[in-house]
Amino acid sequence: MRVVYRLDEFAWKLSEPRHVVGVLASLLDSPFLLQSTSAPAPPESAVVFVGDPAHAPGDCAALLPLTDWPAWKLTDLELASLEDGVLPCPHGDSGSASTERALPGACLRSLAFLLHREEERLDTRRDQWGCFSGFSTRLGEWGVLDRPIVNQWALQLSRRVRAWAERRNHRLAEVPRWKNGKRFAVALTHDVDWVRRYSVRQSLRLLGQARKPGSYAFRHGLRSTAEAIVHFADRSDPYCTFDRWMSEEAGHGFRSTFLFCPPHPKPRHEYDPTYLETDRVQFRGRAMTVAGLMRAIAAAECEVGLHASYESYVRSEELSRQREQIERAARIPIRGVRQHFLRFDIGRTWEAQERAGFAYDSTLGYNEAVGFRAGVGAPFHPWNPATRDERTLLELPMTLMDGTLFRTLKLTAAGAVERIRAHFDAIEQVGGLAVLLWHPNATDESAFPGWWDAYREALQDLAGRDAWVAPAGEIAAWWLERGRQMDSASSQ
Ligand SMILES: [Zn+2]
Repeated sequence: MRVVYRLDEFAWKLSEPRHVVGVLASLLDSPFLLQSTSAPAPPESAVVFVGDPAHAPGDCAALLPLTDWPAWKLTDLELASLEDGVLPCPHGDSGSASTERALPGACLRSLAFLLHREEERLDTRRDQWGCFSGFSTRLGEWGVLDRPIVNQWALQLSRRVRAWAERRNHRLAEVPRWKNGKRFAVALTHDVDWVRRYSVRQSLRLLGQARKPGSYAFRHGLRSTAEAIVHFADRSDPYCTFDRWMSEEAGHGFRSTFLFCPPHPKPRHEYDPTYLETDRVQFRGRAMTVAGLMRAIAAAECEVGLHASYESYVRSEELSRQREQIERAARIPIRGVRQHFLRFDIGRTWEAQERAGFAYDSTLGYNEAVGFRAGVGAPFHPWNPATRDERTLLELPMTLMDGTLFRTLKLTAAGAVERIRAHFDAIEQVGGLAVLLWHPNATDESAFPGWWDAYREALQDLAGRDAWVAPAGEIAAWWLERGRQMDSASSQ
């Protein structure tokens, strides 16, 4: 038996709630159909009614109340703490109480607020990199940023539908959430900002990018040029440890995603990495080019993606050009992207990436905070307010980054391991997706004390859990295929 979400006329016309219901439905693991109540209800289905509770059919499995769709003001918002979860709502008023059948009155509106990132559309504050900061989000102020709120409410909905089916001895059709029936998923990703610490050429290029004395590129370029000269004869480089990452992961049967920077971004910004595809690196005891390294990574069934340049986050043609640069070097199609510095404009970045032909993005997260920027720890198709529909691009929200733990939160290695464990616990409980970002130069203990050890511990921890650990691109492909299965099963 499948689940049919029947939206009343008001809910159906709005399209925002339709998008939210679609995201919730994708987290229920049953084939589903969204339809208007003006269409005839298909027989043999569990009905979730979306609309005015006064008109809910008596035998519906669950109810998502919706009677209005007011604009929300940021200044009114407070966190409502309910028995079964939390919801940001104006004045903390979550509307009609949840019942055996119904979720709270403001649930859909509140989840739309999270999923559609209304907060950063309304709050115009941006940090020195032009990002909506992890220090600005109210979810952080309320202490719930590390709670996958959307997944938690999907679980509440799922419990109601299952209880209804059990009472009637109906069997709900199921599509597995993750590969091999695993309980939750973790994507391991690495933004390749550096390929070597000691490279005279790359350091001089950085100096060349300096816009003025005293700027980042000037200071860092000078220092790293001097260092590179001192270490000119060294046989190994502390940043060039790609084989260590891959062996450590492979030791647990894991593989990951390496996102490479384009060699020729336009315009080039002083924060852009300076390696070229023709530069030399060491990999498994052999000298090769960066392009060769990309191919070796792909040959080991890890993923190569694009770490798009600093200025590219609103430029579709440039993103497309950068994708082609990596495709030429790696000689494989590139499907995934993450923006350098997590530069992201809620009104423009997804649009640019989608136009540039990417299947998925994994930028939506914070530099300064751990957790779920859109309240969701799962792949989802973002909302497009211009077309009032979901995008074809899939978002895999980045949820946990090395620098956040050690630089912003200033944790020790042991403290970081605890924090990572709590993050895995939260995502495991809802069967969601965590996306980890560790930078490949973090193996350099002298520059990043504790970073690599914390990662190794995290992998060890994951090995003991029922987790599907895979490159982001594989998880994206799985989710897209799962969506097709849910659709085709529901139209049979
Ligand atoms: Zn970066």
